[in-house]
Amino acid sequence: MCGVCGIWSPPARAAEDPTEAARLMFFSLYALQHRGQESAGIAATDGRDLRVVRRMGLVGQVFSEPDLGVLGGRAAMGHTRYSTTGSSKIQNAQPLVVRDDRLGELAIGHNGNCINAREIRDELGAQGARFVTSSDTEVVAQAIASAPGASWDDRLRHALPTLAGAWSLVILTPAALYAVRDPLGVRPLSLGRRDGAWLVASETCALDTIGAEFVRDVEPGEVLRIDDRGPERVADLAAQGRRGLCIFEHVYLASASSRLGGVSVYATRERMGEILAEEHPAQADAVIPVPDSAIPAAVGYARRSGIPFHEGLIKNRYIGRTFIQPSDELRRHNVALKYNALGDVLEGRRVVVVDDSIVRGNTSGPIVDLLRRHGAREVHMRICSPPIRHACYFGVDMARRGELIAARLSVEEIRRHIGADTLGYLSLEGMVRATGGTADEYCSACFTGEYLVPVQLELDKSVLEKVP
Ligand code: SF4
Repeated sequence: MCGVCGIWSPPARAAEDPTEAARLMFFSLYALQHRGQESAGIAATDGRDLRVVRRMGLVGQVFSEPDLGVLGGRAAMGHTRYSTTGSSKIQNAQPLVVRDDRLGELAIGHNGNCINAREIRDELGAQGARFVTSSDTEVVAQAIASAPGASWDDRLRHALPTLAGAWSLVILTPAALYAVRDPLGVRPLSLGRRDGAWLVASETCALDTIGAEFVRDVEPGEVLRIDDRGPERVADLAAQGRRGLCIFEHVYLASASSRLGGVSVYATRERMGEILAEEHPAQADAVIPVPDSAIPAAVGYARRSGIPFHEGLIKNRYIGRTFIQPSDELRRHNVALKYNALGDVLEGRRVVVVDDSIVRGNTSGPIVDLLRRHGAREVHMRICSPPIRHACYFGVDMARRGELIAARLSVEEIRRHIGADTLGYLSLEGMVRATGGTADEYCSACFTGEYLVPVQLELDKSVLEKVP
């Protein structure tokens, strides 16, 4: 997953403070840091050309005050990256810029995964296109740049229907900002307003952070062009009508402070915990969350079960999320670095520990062990999503199928593997019900194996590294 954002501000504001647009993007990216921690970048325009600053690292490490001077202008866009196609290296950092002799420059930031990038790249390569990165985003950018049409609007209308998979895109040219969602709307993208400026961001928390008002979500399949006349829909690619927001955004990916499709992520997670308590009750003395993403679900579980909520694990807030670290080796060492257990809370107690998901199973065992070593008498693990048995090809680098513990082991075998006294997963029906929506609004393929678009099951994130 990644975070994307963009701003188009009125000329008067840029005349007053030429760094405002880039500064707002910087703070928006800060709010989207949870979506990607490998690299960050901002592209900006003064209406003539594009300037880009992008580096490896966290948002706070990537940019400095002098960069905002370089990025002066009335419009800007930003990206924070977690790699799903293409390795974690500076060449793949975004925004990426492509240039067309007739139309000039275009900067692009992508959240999602274009699953037919290899085929498109081969086709464009055969026509003479040259690629300098191993990311699918460059393929998307080149597909747009080489499409027929006398304007970027035309080229987007031609190129976007050829892409398969998930793509929430923010695109900046000197003349306009574009916000695009794939026809299923797998990744979120919201539109906001602040002091006459139009904004787009992967999540509403980024709009809140900079004091922008939420206007609406960019619709699945919608291509919005934003310029001084405001937003205009220049294409609608969602003719078939089936929607497919990633339900894992509700479970784990999105900030609890965001709203997805108008629904509070925090409230959804609380309801997941409540339903989990109904489906998998436990005889226990305390409910504790694995912080931070499972806190609302543990609150819900405690409320519905009547078992008191306690904090039993304290997270070191300066260590990255275990799920999001690229290597398995780092993940194994992360649990002890990441959590301190509260012996006073745990000593002699039967504990329900609530987590959002089990992916590889590398962290649950060490957490159970940590709780027992600090005095927990019984550990009842409750997971507020169903078992993840299938890989994601739509922008979440969970693991290959063979690495997913639930693809190999039954629930009882997982319980034994992690050393819990009992283990209960939220049902698929319960997870969907918690969102207040219906199953046909969501992608839940990593739980069901029912992909909404055909996928090549052997696809992996290095697919474009192997292309000569
Ligand atoms: Fe989200 Fe899972 Fe679908 Fe991937 S497969 S988009 S993680 S629900």
